Amino acid sequence: MRKLALYLALMLAPPAFADEPVELTFIANEGVLLEWRTHAVLIDSPASNSYDGTYSLPSTEIVEAMVEQAPPFQRVSFILSTHIHGDHFDAATLSRMCNKLSSNGTLLGSNAAIDAYIVAGGHERCVIRPSGNEDECGFTGEPHCRAEYGATLRVSGLGPEFGIDIDARPLFHREEIEHWTYRVEMGGVSVLHLGDTQPQMADFSIWDGVDFDVILYPYWFLQMAEGVAFLEAHPEARTIAFHIPAAATDAEIMEALDGAEYLHTEGETRILSAAPHTNASE
Ligand SMILES: [Zn+2]
Repeated sequence: MRKLALYLALMLAPPAFADEPVELTFIANEGVLLEWRTHAVLIDSPASNSYDGTYSLPSTEIVEAMVEQAPPFQRVSFILSTHIHGDHFDAATLSRMCNKLSSNGTLLGSNAAIDAYIVAGGHERCVIRPSGNEDECGFTGEPHCRAEYGATLRVSGLGPEFGIDIDARPLFHREEIEHWTYRVEMGGVSVLHLGDTQPQMADFSIWDGVDFDVILYPYWFLQMAEGVAFLEAHPEARTIAFHIPAAATDAEIMEALDGAEYLHTEGETRILSAAPHTNASE
């Protein structure tokens, strides 16, 4: 009887889960963990090459926690890789993680990154390749090359607003580098991870018409007119900089970014929430 009463209460109650926060934990460089309720998405971590100490890498402790699925990594369902560069990607460690991911645990990344992961001992069954036709598209972001990709994970029985949606679309980083940007929506919060997008070369129209509550961008966006323009085109979004050189002090970062919000310290967290969208038709 008590069970039935609880069940009815769940069916009738307003969706309390909607109020549960989406939490971001910063790992290193552009590595972040997004958690909401029972699921988590890891982006651009682990990583293995600091480029002679220029960029920060995850600590040994946090890499072990990832591999062992210890907190805060016990609920990782998807790992998203923007591109193969070693300050974003670590094929060897990822190959150790696959079998330990929770059910449906999946690595999404470029063909080059996934090939490296397979060579390092990873399993094809743990991966999804976002697209596409390299010859035709060249990964410069032409609209017809969108991989709207719909890797979707839903918490059963609670409706689409309680799921995780992942949408991968290419934006230019460098010649010959397949580079993906990801929109992750969880807990009603839409987060865009821009990876190493080069704003002066990227065709941002690939994301036209999509709303973001949070935009995670490499700090160089603020040094280029096209980068600033992209951020200013999303005034509703909370924008947070990362990929900041490891040796930079807080004072230097504050000055360089003119006070913009940023991520730089392993383990720092943010609570993310939905922005009020003034123009519902967009
Ligand atoms: Zn990078």
